[in-house]
Amino acid sequence: MADSPLSSKNSAAAKRPVVIGLEVHIQLNTKTKLFCPCSTDYIGRTPNTNVCPICLAVPGTLPLLNDLAVALGSRMGLGLHCEIQNYSNFHRKNYFYPDLSKAYQITQYGLTIAVGGYIDIEPEGRPKRVRVHHLHLEEDAGKLVHPTADGRLTGAAYSLVDYNRGGVPLSEIVSEPDMSSPAEARDYVIRLRQLARYLDVSDGEMESGSLRVDANISLSNPDGSLGTRVEIKNMNSLKSLERALEYEISRQNKVLDSGGRIVQETRLWDDAEEVTRSMRSKETASDYRYYPEMDLAPIVITDEQIEDFKRAMPELPWEKRERFAREFGLSGEEVAILTEQKELARYYEETIAAGAPPARAANWVRMEVLRVLNETGTSISDFPLGPSVLAELVKKVESKELSSTIAKDILDTLSREDITLDEAVKRSGASAVRLTGCLLDEVVDRICAANPGVVETIKSGRDKKGGKMKFLQGLVMKETRGQADPSEAAGSLSKKLGA
Ligand SMILES: [Zn+2]
Repeated sequence: MADSPLSSKNSAAAKRPVVIGLEVHIQLNTKTKLFCPCSTDYIGRTPNTNVCPICLAVPGTLPLLNDLAVALGSRMGLGLHCEIQNYSNFHRKNYFYPDLSKAYQITQYGLTIAVGGYIDIEPEGRPKRVRVHHLHLEEDAGKLVHPTADGRLTGAAYSLVDYNRGGVPLSEIVSEPDMSSPAEARDYVIRLRQLARYLDVSDGEMESGSLRVDANISLSNPDGSLGTRVEIKNMNSLKSLERALEYEISRQNKVLDSGGRIVQETRLWDDAEEVTRSMRSKETASDYRYYPEMDLAPIVITDEQIEDFKRAMPELPWEKRERFAREFGLSGEEVAILTEQKELARYYEETIAAGAPPARAANWVRMEVLRVLNETGTSISDFPLGPSVLAELVKKVESKELSSTIAKDILDTLSREDITLDEAVKRSGASAVRLTGCLLDEVVDRICAANPGVVETIKSGRDKKGGKMKFLQGLVMKETRGQADPSEAAGSLSKKLGA
């Protein structure tokens, strides 16, 4: 088959498998910085107020390691099935840039606290295991700001530096190049973030910079050998990660199709223009002149400490998924939604503990609670309707004391106003006894009598798509002000009309 490189972008792409590895920086959930007592709460603070002689690198000061950062890094490593190392140390990574107060960054290199793990991903339902090369600890750099005379922070001819973030503890998780599509890379980051949140290691917010992703991407040669790797930075959302990788795949294919070659370099993603731009040719390790940080003792983690870390591990996302499916008989999709955030999973479990049946409670949390949270922009932790109240509401629906339509209205009311469930039920106008049986049949009779033409169409079998039936059902619901159960109303209509 003729195969012109310029006219068959897809077949060229298929000839060149995509190889992606990710470096993910996660800010560790400590109160103080990695080597000094300064606060890590830097967002929105006056520049250079969360600093001290240590993180400003005043000569004569010495760094002092934050034990909690070591514990959190180890915990994340265990969550990633890594081996925690008994012995690791810190290195100085030298580069001259004003966001570094010392002109070097203290990081781990070679001997890191955790090595060789994996995480299972499942983009679009296709399971895959991504290996983790290692996890290491390092300090964050400061931030450069470029102000203008009118106070805007872009376009100035000079830069200012804010060291509030300098020295904040990060764990960097370096994957093996096991991902082969932007969707896999996205799912990998989602799973890492979920794990970090389950473990209380980090809030994992990409928008605020608590989780940052650098991607290495190359296209394999037709003979299977690895192509030249390009690093992409500056993606601050999952969407921009996916877009940047898609752009880069297409760019590299075009370069190769036209007979060019890929340059090893670092490129920055431009979110507004949706392109990557060359930032600098990629440094190699020797450019950084790594050497051991002699001001810090090595990190020694004993086997006993590792056992303690293991014992303190909470239930992990995949363990919770497995248990929810087994204990509550939920489908894979239901489980995935309910366990996405551990706070939501807890809310669901507490609703069941308060007496709601698991299947119905799953529906309510998944459909109604998440809908209200979405509409009001609230997180489950701030949701005013407690699990015990939701359980009461679900039980009222279960016992047919309330129709599901009215119960949904009550849920909306309770999420907006500070009133009790009883008050909300009273206000909804729902009578204690729901409109069922003879009362419902009476309404159905009345509606049918008032719409003889529609009734005739249904009885003669001409309502093929069921639209007329739905119309009558809607009238019944309206007439009963939602106090009838939609499925019972449909049942009563079918019985009467023989449809
Ligand atoms: Zn400090």
